[in-house]
Amino acid sequence: MAEKPRKTVILGGGLTGISAALHLRQPWVLFEREAKLGGLAVSEERDGFHFDLTGHWLHLRDPAIKQLVAEVLPGGMASVQRRARIFSHGVATLYPFQANLFGLPPDVIKECLLGVIEAKMQSAGAPPRNFEEYCLRHFGAGISRHFMIPYNEKLWGVHPHTITADWCSRFVPLPNLEQVVAGAVGADAGRMGYNVEFFYPKQGGIETLARALGGRIQGGEVHLRSNVESVNFRKREVVVAGKRVPYHAVVSTLPLPELLTRMPGLPDDIAAHASRLRCTTLRYLNVATRSPPRADWHWVYLPEKNLPFYRVGIYSNAVASMAPAGAASFYVELADRGPVNDATLADVAQGLARIGAIVAPGDICFADPREIKYAYVVFDEHYSSATTAIFRFLESQAIYSRGRYGAWTYNAMEDCLLAGREVAGSIEAAPGSKTP
Ligand SMILES: Cc1cc2nc3c(=O)[nH]c(=O)nc-3n(C[C@H](O)[C@H](O)[C@H](O)COP(=O)(O)OP(=O)(O)OC[C@H]3O[C@@H](n4cnc5c(N)ncnc54)[C@H](O)[C@@H]3O)c2cc1C
Repeated sequence: MAEKPRKTVILGGGLTGISAALHLRQPWVLFEREAKLGGLAVSEERDGFHFDLTGHWLHLRDPAIKQLVAEVLPGGMASVQRRARIFSHGVATLYPFQANLFGLPPDVIKECLLGVIEAKMQSAGAPPRNFEEYCLRHFGAGISRHFMIPYNEKLWGVHPHTITADWCSRFVPLPNLEQVVAGAVGADAGRMGYNVEFFYPKQGGIETLARALGGRIQGGEVHLRSNVESVNFRKREVVVAGKRVPYHAVVSTLPLPELLTRMPGLPDDIAAHASRLRCTTLRYLNVATRSPPRADWHWVYLPEKNLPFYRVGIYSNAVASMAPAGAASFYVELADRGPVNDATLADVAQGLARIGAIVAPGDICFADPREIKYAYVVFDEHYSSATTAIFRFLESQAIYSRGRYGAWTYNAMEDCLLAGREVAGSIEAAPGSKTP
């Protein structure tokens, strides 16, 4: 009897998995552990307050992805001009810090400006070996000391001298000297960064987008509440809930270490590389106030150690439907990776009042702790050799690991939609692939 044709098996139904399913023309089957699609791009609601898994603002640059979003949610996305701030030295300055020193104490501005000028006067020399060296090279000592180093240490959970600068080219704006000087004296330095404008669903949080995209997929099967137990690369089978599913190719969007621990019989060198993959966990709070926020920004960066959070955002300042009328919904990303207790909550409430996000700690009606186990991949000295060897091995087995944690990288939602499109094309272009 002829063997049933093998399908492409998609592991995980976040934006990468959804996009792969949307773009594949060959038959596919998708397994998602949770009860709904969306992965990190889901939202939750409590008492009329809506929250994402911290701020999920959509930045779009690819015309085809822009069109896809417009097609699945016609008229459903708000376009918002970024209002982002940095709070340090008791004042809120404009984002990015390095191009908006105006408003800081004069001695801080002087130190930052002198640092930039010294850095620009130095000859190029050897490439920076780590992110701390990258900051000193591009921004000088002052900006590094007052923002780049302390902020990134809080964000990544490790000191910037232990990570490389491989992740940052698109995400950290590099102003020229004229722009730094303009921003220091209060002249317009120009709007900078990948996130000057963003898009956000008018209703329901970012999950509205994931649902709309998920609603478009066809030509395959979606299985929710389906935990992928193992991937037997020798037999080309995936095991889900005890059932063996043969595959022609796998698109895995599981965090890379989770995929590799599910692959019995890995070659020793790949297992050794896998043991070196590092990632930090994020703890954050969904915070609600019954009163309007004091601040008008969408999010603020907080480099100083004496505040327990490194970034705070106000969903309802971007889209009012994220909270009941006259109220506000916030996300608070905590610097500490340990468990959240009453002392943390009291500290956060006071901190929010201190930075001018809320009027008083008593404004808060609830603060729910949440955790993202895989949040920030650590780009340490093993990163490049480990990922190169692992991906070479996986692709030799027709396993395409994609998405933020599948590709083990730092990226945004649009990158994941693009990755899904790219991997569908790669699979269909591979030798032996038959596209109907
Ligand atoms: C704190 C934070 C803030 C962010 N803010 C933004 C932002 O403002 N803008 C932006 O564009 N991007 C943002 N991102 C990035 C964005 O969330 C990701 O790029 C994107 O959502 C990742 O999609 P993915 O499909 O690759 O992975 P995921 O969303 O992680 O999807 C993987 C899926 O695999 C499933 N899965 C895991 N294990 C199994 C298993 N054993 N069996 C079956 N299924 C399994 C999971 O349930 C999940 O659904 C942020 C990320 C973080 C962490």
